[in-house]
Amino acid sequence: MKEKLVILGAGESGTGAALLAKAKGYDVFVSDAQIIKENFKQELMDNQIPFEEGQHTVDLIKNAKLVVKSPGIPDKAPIVKEIKANRIEIIDELEFAFRYYTGKVIAITGTNGKTTTTLLTYHILKEAGYSVGLAGNVGKSMARQLLTQQVDWYVVEISSFQLDGTQSFQPEIAILLNITPDHLDRYEYEMKNYIDSKFRITRNMQSSQTFIYYADDAILAKEVSSRAIASQIIPVSLTQQNFPVHYDGSEMVFGLHAAFKIKQTDTTLKGPHNLINTMAAISAATIAGVKEEDIRKALSSFVNAPHRLERVATINGVEFVNDSKATNVDSVVYALGSYAGNLIWVAGGIDKGNDYSLIEKDVKAKVHTLICLGKDNSKLKNFFGDKVKNILETQDVKELVRMAFQASKVGDVVLLSPACASFDLFKNYEDRGTQFRNAVLELKREVEHKKDLELSTKTPQA
Ligand code: ADP
Repeated sequence: MKEKLVILGAGESGTGAALLAKAKGYDVFVSDAQIIKENFKQELMDNQIPFEEGQHTVDLIKNAKLVVKSPGIPDKAPIVKEIKANRIEIIDELEFAFRYYTGKVIAITGTNGKTTTTLLTYHILKEAGYSVGLAGNVGKSMARQLLTQQVDWYVVEISSFQLDGTQSFQPEIAILLNITPDHLDRYEYEMKNYIDSKFRITRNMQSSQTFIYYADDAILAKEVSSRAIASQIIPVSLTQQNFPVHYDGSEMVFGLHAAFKIKQTDTTLKGPHNLINTMAAISAATIAGVKEEDIRKALSSFVNAPHRLERVATINGVEFVNDSKATNVDSVVYALGSYAGNLIWVAGGIDKGNDYSLIEKDVKAKVHTLICLGKDNSKLKNFFGDKVKNILETQDVKELVRMAFQASKVGDVVLLSPACASFDLFKNYEDRGTQFRNAVLELKREVEHKKDLELSTKTPQA
């Protein structure tokens, strides 16, 4: 008789896992407490995979041999408690997929910078001609991709929730970028639990494998020195010149199997945070065997995911930048650090307990106008009221862009880097960033059209 496998949650990862499980001969049942999206439902039906939605029926789940759950379902959910009480093995989609994968994994985690570093690492390997796939939090699930292709390498973005559901997962190369307080509601408000979750990435790694981490992060430095990590360890630093991979103040220096230096201006990414991401990605690519000249070529053609310090347009010498993904203060620290000054800073939304003193100095020195884009801007206004010359407020993105343009002079940068979640006025951070981008592009067209008209009225007719 076939073994029963239950999938909890039918999103991209759950549906991918269901398809792979069916192909591997399991008797699969999918259960989602919410209503399943139409496209996933159709796929399950097309593949004759039974499912339920809007509920979890314990009796249909309790007889499973293995449960694969969506990383969004916390351990404290009653259904997870029930499964654990019945001693049924419960894992994440990535762990499940990994069990059917014979190639190597580069796994990337951290509180911030995962997507950028994952996409860059993937891009370098791909451009160098490697057989490589991209999975995890970005794009298609690894389980789904394994149905049709086995590649030599997977570059995987992995969150702490996904790490919690791993057992045998063993990356060839792992990158840990930083750890700052986030998602603590899932970790009993204990930072230690969140740190342990992130370090799960190293737990099966062997001496032939490599762990890359950002050594200037105080938490990481302390943890790496006190934990038993069996793999090779490569610290990456912006300040410590004795490390094999570091920034010397003008160039990134790599002293791994090959020694070379690269300037950030030879990459398409900006800011100190992206130096860290780039040094980590290049280190991983070097260890995977990519040659310096291939790395250089790839760096110059990389396009990051949108909403991350994305340059939208320059209008009359004023640059508009969309960093809508910066939903916490920590990200804004790096965004402000990417510019020398002359900033019009757009911030606001739902504050998740922000400590604005972290950016106080930079804001005072670099920002002449703050535009608040939120329903309730009182915290921002109170904190920065006596620190920024000009504070404006709006809840309309088109008006915001015009306000910013009016308050600007040549050489200014209008930086949307909100430090807050977006749900008060927008569907999500993508919606906020897209509305901003569209409004900027509309203004650009108007300004150019006006210039054309002026020119044509000035040009004498033949
Ligand atoms: P994640 O996938 O971890 O959310 P992203 O690459 O999408 O990370 O970047 C999210 C935001 O985090 C960016 O807008 C940027 O402001 C900030 N960020 C990126 N890399 C780092 C880093 N290494 N350290 C701190 N903040 C970063």
